[in-house]
Amino acid sequence: MNVADRSAAIVVDGLRKSYAGRDVVRGVSFRIEAGECFGLLGHNGAGKTTTIEILEGYLDRDAGTVSVLGCDPADATAEWRRRIGVVLQDMDVFPTLTVVETVRMFADLYPDPRGVAETIDMVGLTPRSSARVGGLSGGEKRRLDVALGIIGDPELLFLDEPTTGLDPAARREVWAMVDELKGTGVTIVLTTHYMDEAQILADRLVILDDGVVAADGTFDELLRVHGDARTISFRLPVDVPAESMGAAIGVEFHADGFRVEFSSVDPQRDLFRLLGWAEERRVLLDDLAVRRSSLDDLFLSVSAEDAATGAAGTEALR
Ligand code: ADP
Repeated sequence: MNVADRSAAIVVDGLRKSYAGRDVVRGVSFRIEAGECFGLLGHNGAGKTTTIEILEGYLDRDAGTVSVLGCDPADATAEWRRRIGVVLQDMDVFPTLTVVETVRMFADLYPDPRGVAETIDMVGLTPRSSARVGGLSGGEKRRLDVALGIIGDPELLFLDEPTTGLDPAARREVWAMVDELKGTGVTIVLTTHYMDEAQILADRLVILDDGVVAADGTFDELLRVHGDARTISFRLPVDVPAESMGAAIGVEFHADGFRVEFSSVDPQRDLFRLLGWAEERRVLLDDLAVRRSSLDDLFLSVSAEDAATGAAGTEALR
């Protein structure tokens, strides 16, 4: 690590990992500044967990260099581990213990933990301190998981899918809690497949796709480079295959039943072609709509570009 990397909490360069000869992480590089909330996104199988487990020191890598809080996780020491908090998707806890007993038990594992009451308060569980863990709701359980991740007062916190399986209200509560955590200066590495979550919480994000970095930047940067598009959608009659439309207009489309949509950077041109094709074939385009691409579309378009270019086009975002 050179002098310029002193403010970096994590530096990953050329990371590679394969399982049984299959490359699942293929030359991943990124950098996370101290105090940043960094989002690692990607569809299932993109390589997020593999990457994170290497950073956490739980998995060996095949190639590349990795520095986490100034150390190589492959040489993890107990002292280094104590500087890191990990919030897994489902932490193993005793259902018969109360919230306060559970947090206290975890606090005893650290030489200099946060205060138990203060930590419970930080995650908004004070009114539930004496409740048994087995009786907590999904949202409350996630807050407890986070309390256990931060009780050791870590400099770096790995948050794995913090709101998966939660209802919308509970998700918002967890977001508010993570937002508050950000104010404490801890570096957060958030793994998620929810675009809205990453937009709200992450200062910067990397989208992994099939083991490579498909995009790296702030949300605004990503939207500027990838998101200046419109989505055109409509429904086709049962007997008209979407493929004939795609070929005639020259677009990559996505079809879900009879509903078809495609992303367009030149909606006037593409609409003109689409309507010309429909007119000529006497096809009725039901529910025709043009809308600004959402963040999920951005996610899809980044993945699609990645597939088309072999993920070479990320430099513009660095
Ligand atoms: P993500 O977390 O983005 O869903 P993973 O890192 O879990 O992705 O997985 C990346 C790829 O590696 C997937 O295709 C997965 O099936 C494969 N994989 C993960 N762990 C193992 C393992 N222990 N053995 C073999 N293949 C694995």
